[in-house]
Amino acid sequence: MITMKDIVREGHPALREKAVNVALPPSEEDKKTAKQLLEYVQNSQDPETAKKFGLRPGVGLAAPQIGLTKRIIAIQVHDEQGKLISHALINPKIVSHSVEKAYLLSGEGCLSVDRDVPGYVHRYARVTIKAIDLEGKEIKLRLKGMPAIVAQHEIDHLNGIMFYDHIDPKNPFSVVEGSVPIER
Ligand SMILES: [Zn+2]
Repeated sequence: MITMKDIVREGHPALREKAVNVALPPSEEDKKTAKQLLEYVQNSQDPETAKKFGLRPGVGLAAPQIGLTKRIIAIQVHDEQGKLISHALINPKIVSHSVEKAYLLSGEGCLSVDRDVPGYVHRYARVTIKAIDLEGKEIKLRLKGMPAIVAQHEIDHLNGIMFYDHIDPKNPFSVVEGSVPIER
């Protein structure tokens, strides 16, 4: 199982590389990685397991964050209706997105960043993502609100982008016109 000691932090080169596509159909090893990423997120959200293994709670994790530069991510977060959105995704790709932007009022955090970086990260309010799931099947997800933000944060990791790259250092709390605030 993945624990905090497996998660690389800022300064590790894997966080700044462009991750490579997973060969399809995914190998057992790649599927195992996807499963382990999702398991970390699930374990971290279970208070007892998180406490027992010292896991920092997270809503998403990407393979580069365990030093593996492959295009695999996991997300687990509730949507606005309280529905649990929980997926391990191989080769996730944003195939379309809204013009409208959205941002988390609380800002973003990252399991690879051991400090608070204040500021708003403006992302697409809605995204459609195509990916390969744990069974090797193509799936299409339409996400909005918090799940859309989390998915974009994780896909950024596959492109060597950190959330704070999106924050304007001179004006960290500037709001893009028409961008919708999201509370979580
Ligand atoms: Zn992150």
